[in-house]
Amino acid sequence: MAGVVVAPDDAEYDAARRCFNALVDRRPAVIARCVGASDVVVALDFARAHELEVAVRGGGHNPAGHCVCDGGLVIDLSPMRSVEVDGDARVARADGGATWLDFDSATQALGLVTPGGVVGSTGVAGLTFGGGIGHLTAQHGLTCDKLVGADLVTPDGTLVHAGADDDPDLLWGLRGGGGNFGVATRLEFVLHPLDRVVGGLLAFGGSGVREAFRRFRDVAARSPRHLSCQAGLAVDESLAPVLVVAPCYTGSDPDPDELRTLRSAPGLVEDGVRAQSFLDQQRVFDSPYGENRHYWKGHFVRELPDELIDELLGRIVALGRPPGGVLIESLHGAPKDVDRSAGAVGFRGAAFNVSVMATWQDPAFDEQHIAWARDTAAAIEPWSFGSGGYVNYMQADEPLERVRGAFGDEAFGRLQALKKRYDPKNVLHRNQNIPPS
Ligand SMILES: Cc1cc2nc3c(=O)[nH]c(=O)nc-3n(C[C@H](O)[C@H](O)[C@H](O)COP(=O)(O)OP(=O)(O)OC[C@H]3O[C@@H](n4cnc5c(N)ncnc54)[C@H](O)[C@@H]3O)c2cc1C
Repeated sequence: MAGVVVAPDDAEYDAARRCFNALVDRRPAVIARCVGASDVVVALDFARAHELEVAVRGGGHNPAGHCVCDGGLVIDLSPMRSVEVDGDARVARADGGATWLDFDSATQALGLVTPGGVVGSTGVAGLTFGGGIGHLTAQHGLTCDKLVGADLVTPDGTLVHAGADDDPDLLWGLRGGGGNFGVATRLEFVLHPLDRVVGGLLAFGGSGVREAFRRFRDVAARSPRHLSCQAGLAVDESLAPVLVVAPCYTGSDPDPDELRTLRSAPGLVEDGVRAQSFLDQQRVFDSPYGENRHYWKGHFVRELPDELIDELLGRIVALGRPPGGVLIESLHGAPKDVDRSAGAVGFRGAAFNVSVMATWQDPAFDEQHIAWARDTAAAIEPWSFGSGGYVNYMQADEPLERVRGAFGDEAFGRLQALKKRYDPKNVLHRNQNIPPS
C-alpha cells in the first residue's frame, strides 16, 4: 500500500480506532489508511485472502460505530480528503474521506455550495449515501439529490463508475442505500451559488417553550423555500425544557416574515440570528468527537401535532438529568420537488425527522439513557411516516425490518438486487445492511 498501515502496537492505533460515539469501543486487527483507489483494492484483497471482516471509515460519525470492527480490517479513507471545484461547470469532486469542512471550504472559496451536513467533521460520503439533511434542505433538497456521479471499488476489487450515463441503477442506490455497494473513492456533486445567509440560533425557555415549538412547526408548514429550519429540544441546568431553533434564510428580504414570526415567539432568551457567511452557519452546531456516549432512535413523521409536541415536552424532563435532546428537522421545500424514482431514499414525503438523541458520559448510566431514548422514540411512533427511521442516525441494533421500512418494500427489493450484483457475499455489511437478494 502507498498509505500507512496501523496495527495494535502502533502509537496512533487508539486514535485511529476511535469513533464519534464513545459507546463503541472496538479493536480491529489492522487499519489500512488508504491514499487512493489502488490502496482500497489492496486492502480488500488482503481482507479476502485472510478472511477478515471489513469496516469502512469516512468521517467516523455514524452513531452505530460502523467505521470500526473487532479483529477485522478497517479501510480508513481519512487521508483521502481533497475536494476539486470546477467553478464554471458548478461541479465539485470530493475524495471518499472528505469531510463537510473540507467540502464547504473548497466550494465557498468560489461562492458555491451543495446542501450538506451541519457538523464539519462528518464524512461527505457517509452522509450523502444515507440521504443528507442540513441547513440548505428547503432551498436545494437532500444531499443525495446533488450527487451526480461516484467512483467505487467493489468488494471484488473492480473499479466502477456510477452516473446517469454509466450505471444509473447504481447511482439510484447510492442516493440513500448507504455504503452497501462499494468503497467510494470520489463523489461528484452539482453546486449552487451562495454568498451569505441569515442564520444562527434562537433559544427559548420558561413557559414560552411550548408556543415556540408550535411556532417553529407552523413556519415550516408554510414551506418557505428560502428558509431551512431545524430545532433541538433539551433541558437547561434546572432541568426545565429549552428549545433551540436554527433557521437558515437565503432570500433577499432584509426582514423576512418567517424570521420575525420565529423571533416574536414567547420565551426568547437568546437571539444569535444574524447575517453571516455560510461557513459560519456551518459552525452553529458543534459536537465533540469521541467524548460522549450516544444512543439515537427516531422516526420521520407525517405531521407534528400539538399532542406530539406535548409528549416530547413531557419526555424531555422524564429522565431527571440532561438526556441529550430531541432533534427535529423540517423536510419542507426542495426535497418534495424531486421525483421519488431519482433515488432509493424513502423519506422525502415526510414532514419532519424527529430523532431522540441520548448523550451522556458515565457508563453507569448506559441502561437508563438507552431506555429513555427507546421509550421516547416509541412515543413518537404513532405519528411516523413509513415504518423505518433515518438510516444515517440508526444504531446497530435496529432490526432488518426497520431498515426495509426506511425504503419501502419495492425500493428495498431493488436495493437487494443491486447488492447481489455488486456485493453478493455481503462483504460490506457494517452499515444499515441490505442483504443480497
Ligand atoms: C455530530 C454528527 C452530526 C451529524 N450531522 C448530520 C447532518 O447534519 N445531516 C445528516 O443527514 N446526517 C448527519 N449525521 C449523520 C451522518 O450523516 C451519518 O452518521 C453518516 O453515516 C456519517 O458518515 P461518516 O463518514 O462521518 O461516518 P463513518 O462512521 O466513517 O461511516 C459510516 C458508514 O458510511 C459508509 N461510508 C462512509 N464513507 C464511505 C465511502 N467513502 N464509501 C463507501 N461507504 C462509505 C460506510 O458504510 C461506513 O460504515 C451526523 C452525525 C453526527 C455524529
